[in-house]
Amino acid sequence: MNYILIIIKIIIQRLRVYKKIYINKVLYLEGLTMNKKAIVVFSGGQDSTTCLFWALKEFDEVIAVTFDYNQKHRKEIECATDIAKELGVEHHILDMGLLNQLAPNALTRDDIEIKMGENGSLPSTFVEGRNMLFLTFAGVLAKVKGAKHIITGVCETDFSGYPDCRDIFIKSLNVTLNLAMDYDFVIHTPLMWIDKAQTWEMADKFGKLDYIREKTLTCYNGIIGDGCGECPACNLRKRGLDSYLLYKERKNKK
Ligand code: ZN
Repeated sequence: MNYILIIIKIIIQRLRVYKKIYINKVLYLEGLTMNKKAIVVFSGGQDSTTCLFWALKEFDEVIAVTFDYNQKHRKEIECATDIAKELGVEHHILDMGLLNQLAPNALTRDDIEIKMGENGSLPSTFVEGRNMLFLTFAGVLAKVKGAKHIITGVCETDFSGYPDCRDIFIKSLNVTLNLAMDYDFVIHTPLMWIDKAQTWEMADKFGKLDYIREKTLTCYNGIIGDGCGECPACNLRKRGLDSYLLYKERKNKK
């Protein structure tokens, strides 16, 4: 009888050891696959700041990257730096001056007027290949930093015709980056299918509507907050804000 009890005891002990090994193995594998570090492509504008708040909610560790492509309005870089500092986010500014050499545009050159595209042509603010280059460089930084997630505020809904804002392009680049660097990047686009009003709604859900309204810079004339009120970027931002505030007012009345 004693002999049987000893055997049962040994079996139970063994099972406990196996359970421990199994749990450790699962935790180890989870640790390998659950990479909660993210890089946000961050310009200090409404969209990318909303994405930064989104990322801070979704990931354990967030790094922001801003590209300096000789923007006419240096305030854009200052604005991004100030926000990152205030939120305690690690911030990198990468020099992409070559983009201005390659693709002159209204955002970098005083002699090019800001114009909306007519008859299917792109607006003069379009910078050829900008998102492709930004995301590629963000990918290199992400791998160096050991981050798997890349977040960008591109959007197909309020689409100005920029080809590298399209979802299909982002998916294609995701595959390319993974192959190029033999790494499992995941590119996230939280704003892809929402309009400007819904982007304001997202900011409001995070409790950051006023923060984004006051501290971000979207205006093509380099004026922080509500901007100049006249350029296409200000118009788009204001239309979205007015529409969201009206929707919120109606919803609250119900
Ligand atoms: Zn403006």
